[in-house]
Amino acid sequence: MALRFFNTLSQQVEDFSTQDGKTVRMYTCGPTVYHYVHIGNLRTFTFQDLLRRWLRYRGYALNHVMNITDVEDKIIRSAMQQGKELREYTSVYETAFLEDADKLRLERPERLVRATEHIPEMLDAIQKLEAGGYTYLSEGSVYYRIAQFPKYGKLARLDFGGMKSGARVDVDEYDKDDARDFVLWKQRKDGEPAWEGPYGAGRPGWHIECSVMAMKYLGETLDIHAGGIDLTFPHHENEIAQSEAITHKQFSRYWLHAEHLMVEGQKMSKSLGNFYTLRDLLEQGWQPDTIRFLLTSSHYRTKLNFTFDGLRAQSTSLERLRNFKLRLETDKLAAGANEALNARAEAAWSAFEAAMDDDLNTAGALGAVFEYVRDANTALDAGEFVEGNRAGALEFLAKFDSIFDVLRPVEREGGLSDAEIQALVDERVAAKKAKNFGRSDEIRNLLAEKGVILEDTREGMRWKRK
Ligand code: AMP
Ligand code: ZN
Repeated sequence: MALRFFNTLSQQVEDFSTQDGKTVRMYTCGPTVYHYVHIGNLRTFTFQDLLRRWLRYRGYALNHVMNITDVEDKIIRSAMQQGKELREYTSVYETAFLEDADKLRLERPERLVRATEHIPEMLDAIQKLEAGGYTYLSEGSVYYRIAQFPKYGKLARLDFGGMKSGARVDVDEYDKDDARDFVLWKQRKDGEPAWEGPYGAGRPGWHIECSVMAMKYLGETLDIHAGGIDLTFPHHENEIAQSEAITHKQFSRYWLHAEHLMVEGQKMSKSLGNFYTLRDLLEQGWQPDTIRFLLTSSHYRTKLNFTFDGLRAQSTSLERLRNFKLRLETDKLAAGANEALNARAEAAWSAFEAAMDDDLNTAGALGAVFEYVRDANTALDAGEFVEGNRAGALEFLAKFDSIFDVLRPVEREGGLSDAEIQALVDERVAAKKAKNFGRSDEIRNLLAEKGVILEDTREGMRWKRK
């Protein structure tokens, strides 16, 4: 079966294809850099990372653009409160976002683009909308007249029967079900950062930013546009209204939306005290690979219930996979090949592929992995897993990890590299042989301090990171 995704636009699972048969033109809404990103944001960004990796596995080239929203109501409010220039304020959180993304091993999109560096293009787009009769001026700001775009509501599938023509909002976010004319260019209020232009000093609305940057770098029609579910309306609906009013072409062929992350069954919010950034969790001692594994563990279109029990369970599961890998790398095995076991590995990989092709069903794919690992471990214990099975099993894990990317040990700050650890382990083995127990103990303690555990096994000295 072909690769397929649930398209919010059609509300159907559809076979995936690209316009040119090769490169995926993909736009994803990036962070609003007014605070550290929280683990809900990171759920959506991790879904996009898996999407990238799976598209590539399926032979596509990627042209992925992500925006950095660096001008918007909340940003301006916070920057002004702190008496900072916009860029001075946002650069801190932009850098922090990139650091967090690196910790979670999120691949960088081909392009990261800042809204504030595309103001002339946005003004140009607004003028095109004006020329097409889609705008009006009110109290110095420019609004998009949604009544002028008959397809308004096609993505969110909302019934706009009761819509009041001319009702408008000039904030960037507003209530669901509340269709209103939205702001394209916002007149400057006292002291706010502003840009000069044909409509006087002001700044762009949030929605025009994404339409303009997506089309500038990816062309008039994208293959995939993705974001969190909350962006469906009004943000993505408004992007469609703007882009299609300018080009008269379909703006994006597939719309993919990730469901929200909840914490212990509740919506994450500061007032409930269940609001976590990646930094909060790392400070509590959780490892980024465990967090990444949890974020990838459920299907992106189901709500992800984040719990600390879940994190602990995920850490144990990850340990199980790593131990299996270590056995494969170090166990002495009998000669020969067990064909049934090799066939088992191939069948498990086919099940993995089938699940991922099915709208990126990561939960199903992980199910196939764990079933295989359980069977292979049983075979290892029984001595039925032999030399001729080693390469296939290692290849299985390598393919799995090219997508999930959780098996590589986390590099710790001030920690030792794999090569440094191996050198110390070898030195310790030699010291023991020479009955230099002082040095041997010294090395054991040093490694323990650096979070490395040694295990004496039949096959010799093994090590792993804590
Ligand atoms: P923002 O920085 O608010 O623009 O959001 C960045 C991304 O995170 C968007 O795609 C949002 O839809 C997404 N997002 C926000 N809250 C959550 C949540 N609780 N769970 C999953 N994704 C979220
Ligand atoms: Zn956007």
